[in-house]
Amino acid sequence: MKLVVRVKLLPTPVQAAALEATLHACNQAATWAAGVAFEENARRPLELRKHAYAEIRERWGLGAQAAQHAIKKSCDAYTTLKANLRSGRYGRPGTKRHARASGKPVVFRPEAAQPYDDRMLSWQHQARTVSIWTTAGRLKGVAFTGQAEQLEVLAAHRRGESDLVCQGGKWFLIATCEIPEGDLNTHPDGFLGVDLGIANIAVTSDGERHCGRRINRKREQDRNLRRKLQKRNTKSAKRRAKKYAGKEARRNKDINHKISKRIVAEAERTGRGIALETLTGIRERARLRKPQRVKIHSWPFAQLGSFIAYKAKRAGVPVVYVNPAYTSQECSKCHHTARGNRPSQAVFSCRVCGFVEHADHNASHNIRQRGWMVWVCGAQSTAPELTLIA
Ligand SMILES: [Zn+2]
Repeated sequence: MKLVVRVKLLPTPVQAAALEATLHACNQAATWAAGVAFEENARRPLELRKHAYAEIRERWGLGAQAAQHAIKKSCDAYTTLKANLRSGRYGRPGTKRHARASGKPVVFRPEAAQPYDDRMLSWQHQARTVSIWTTAGRLKGVAFTGQAEQLEVLAAHRRGESDLVCQGGKWFLIATCEIPEGDLNTHPDGFLGVDLGIANIAVTSDGERHCGRRINRKREQDRNLRRKLQKRNTKSAKRRAKKYAGKEARRNKDINHKISKRIVAEAERTGRGIALETLTGIRERARLRKPQRVKIHSWPFAQLGSFIAYKAKRAGVPVVYVNPAYTSQECSKCHHTARGNRPSQAVFSCRVCGFVEHADHNASHNIRQRGWMVWVCGAQSTAPELTLIA
């Protein structure tokens, strides 16, 4: 299983200047190569190499590997563009938008990510430093930092290329790790149902509730502050707004890591699998008042789901995805399903058998039962496309 780990570099001012010059040079070279690819209609690496390699090395002082990567990056960008044009993302052929997208060469931002292979970048995990190629020569002993758990994964399982990126003036390496999967528990002793929501971020069928009240309040404050800053529309206000957005994302990620860890550990300890709703369902079925709608679209449900999925995979805990229809309106005792079973956001009260339960808890029981059905019927559960980011 592939996993992406991001570590922060801590370069000295001199090192940072060298990294910046390198990133700019690589992207200028890639932009120039993309222009050549467009004019010569040479959009495959082998062809473009003939036209661009020598000049890239000479004009921007790129090493052999970096020049290759610049060429490959240009070609990859055209492949992506082609796929997007074909899928209709830029409208139909003949429209203005389509012509605008296809009628000019690809351009890279000065700070676009740059891939590094093992010949351009080496890791010293003990010392927590990297040695990295730049246009000013090789930088040795550039310090990096990250969460302990991620650094362990990195040291044990990193494979292949890493991307150098600069975000908000800070430097990061994004490394790909190939993680072995745990032996799958093929005879789970039932399932742990997990209901993902807004007021409660995650509720399990064991009755564990991960409450979002504090987080939601904090997020509202952040959002209000951001709105104020955006209204001001000055450069420094924009910068601050961006900073707060980053902070919020990091906090959410941290919370999602903690919740997913607990849920997977509990399922593993008790020999059970995990049942989740298909994630697309959560957004689609949500009929909410406006303030809540803001919350549901900005809450990273997909992230929590993917964290649970990859931690489960590592632990060999099976995960099934169930149809989310009516999980909140169905009685988990007698299965009577009606909107009237849900007198309020928080309460479930069955009109037929009188069963009363916290609404999300009742839903998590339905998810648990459906998960078991999916498992024993051997039905294909539709796992959503996952981008695993640790
Ligand atoms: Zn009932």
